[in-house]
Amino acid sequence: MDKKCPKCGGEMTEGEIRFDSDTVMPNQMNAYMTGIPNSPLPAVYQSSTSKPYWEEKTGKRTGFILKSDETKTLRIKGLRCTLCGYVEMYAAEKRE
Ligand SMILES: [Zn+2]
Repeated sequence: MDKKCPKCGGEMTEGEIRFDSDTVMPNQMNAYMTGIPNSPLPAVYQSSTSKPYWEEKTGKRTGFILKSDETKTLRIKGLRCTLCGYVEMYAAEKRE
């Protein structure tokens, strides 16, 4: 991917949006709050990551008995300018 930033002409780096949701265990929360410096942190966080996606209607109808709008999902990717931080998003067709 060799793309230039439309704003400043800087170099664009490819990436994607991710949501990290950290779940803190209630009983381990106290240990974390009173954390002793330089002690190894216990496994406090349960990390789960979910990726957003683009969904659109294809215009077709699927199903034999119950007709429903056919949709297709696309992964959302993005390019970030390394100079000014401008982010350009696009939905990429799944190739698998
Ligand atoms: Zn830029």
